[in-house]
Amino acid sequence: MDSFNSIVVIGGGISGVTCAKVLSTENPTFFVTLISASPIVKMVSNLRTIGRSIDIFDVIEQNSNCLETVNFKVIIGKVIHLDSKKQLIQLDCQKELIHYSKICICTGAKPKRFKIGDNGKEIERYIKYIRDTDHAISFKNMLSTSKRILIVGNGGIATELVHEVKNCQIVWVIKDDHFGATFFDPAVSKFFNKYLNNNSNTCKKENLKKREHFTVTTNNKKQDSSSNKNDFGVALGPDWHSGLDLHGLVEKNVTIEKCCNIKNIYRKCPMDKKCFNEKESDLKQWNIFVELDNGKLYGCDMIIIATGVVPNSDPFISDNSFELCSEGGFLIDTEMRTNIKNVYAAGDVCTIKWKKLSTSHWFQMRLWTQARQMGFFAAKCIAAHLKNDCKNLELYFNFEVFAHATKFFGFRVILLGFFNGQNLQEGRENCSILYRVDDERQQLIKVILQNGKMKGAILIGETEFEETFENLIYNQMDLSRFESNVITKSNQGNHQLS
Ligand code: FAD
Repeated sequence: MDSFNSIVVIGGGISGVTCAKVLSTENPTFFVTLISASPIVKMVSNLRTIGRSIDIFDVIEQNSNCLETVNFKVIIGKVIHLDSKKQLIQLDCQKELIHYSKICICTGAKPKRFKIGDNGKEIERYIKYIRDTDHAISFKNMLSTSKRILIVGNGGIATELVHEVKNCQIVWVIKDDHFGATFFDPAVSKFFNKYLNNNSNTCKKENLKKREHFTVTTNNKKQDSSSNKNDFGVALGPDWHSGLDLHGLVEKNVTIEKCCNIKNIYRKCPMDKKCFNEKESDLKQWNIFVELDNGKLYGCDMIIIATGVVPNSDPFISDNSFELCSEGGFLIDTEMRTNIKNVYAAGDVCTIKWKKLSTSHWFQMRLWTQARQMGFFAAKCIAAHLKNDCKNLELYFNFEVFAHATKFFGFRVILLGFFNGQNLQEGRENCSILYRVDDERQQLIKVILQNGKMKGAILIGETEFEETFENLIYNQMDLSRFESNVITKSNQGNHQLS
């Protein structure tokens, strides 16, 4: 093997696997080694692209050995050190160091942790994070004996959990004044309001069935019993909850505590404090008591913290002077390179602050779709740099318009451009937001225009506008003349919110 072409990709998540697969299949002369701390890797399947870049796909979990080919090898192990000067990496599972000509770090992100005080040991087991399959199973098991849980966070995972958990009282603690604020403004959040307490699937359209999520495993016991999967499993992705029975013991009821955060967690109800809406005699049933900074105290069976993630860059930082963002993500250039020679990064572990983006309608969000997009582009960049042929690289640069397809409360949701007003602070006075809500068809359309040009959109339900709107964001056509008609398909049965 020519060591010049020996490339190492670290991470068995969607960014790492995409990067390694593209490198090995498109470049038979390269030798690619994928190193993953988790024996199960994630891959994209059934990829469909609507319009130019709205990707919809399923996810397969595979045992990593299924990926191997003549020029593609997988090593299950944890990287514990990077010597970027000698271009060597050290694993926890073997003495020999691995040399690389180019390396791509795709080690994902980990949930932000809640800082527990002195009583940490006593309450730790009742605090859950959802990141990988082990976390999800542990959560599911505790939920099956729960009557009330507290969910903290206002992003996609928290919103999804509130919808998916059935037969349980939920206290949803959010720092904003409306739920789902990472994705929705108050008007969009209001659209979902009536689905909050539903104990069954919410969307009445039959054709909106769940995406299939399937798992492929082999009977490789050695690999499945990896001891280090708890900290280093691949992040869950779309439909992670399908197949998990997320049921508690009582009727579902959601209470939202807005504009607040957790102040304290106690194992026993403090003598000098009163639990909100609770009789003294009922206090014994709860595992922990949570005090919020709005003064309320709730007893509950467990807390789920879903307040975001931080990039998982720690193992690479010592002895290397990487440029990092404040939360630890590798800063990369427009060809996916970190500031250290021959070291690239992709997916949740990196942070993008490209000047080039000032004219586009894309921004970074740690999502499955972007992990795939970055892994793919990193592979193209690494190959182009190794072959010293960058003339076609621009063709693969697909970071012009943010596009993400997902589901909330059982509805298909398409997010385009600056869908929630991101990056539109300057010139805000020239912006207008149009909404169309169609209760009968269970649809909501939101469009943001600035100086008559479409900057972002949210499409909820089967609206069939996604391709048109994506194009309007790409080509920045002046829509001033049509403004009020932009979102009107038929004038019947529609009304606009202001
Ligand atoms: P990961 O998938 O986290 O993979 C990281 C890999 O690196 C793992 O294989 C790990 O074992 C390995 N690794 C880590 N450290 C080391 C080391 N030192 N040595 C070797 N290997 C190491 N996104 C969406 O778009 N839609 C959704 O609906 C959605 N839902 C989500 C639900 C949950 C509960 C969670 C947690 C995330 C969700 N996401 C969703 C986000 C999405 O899962 C992530 O953005 C995406 O998986 C990131 O991929 P990645 O390849 O960068 O990292």
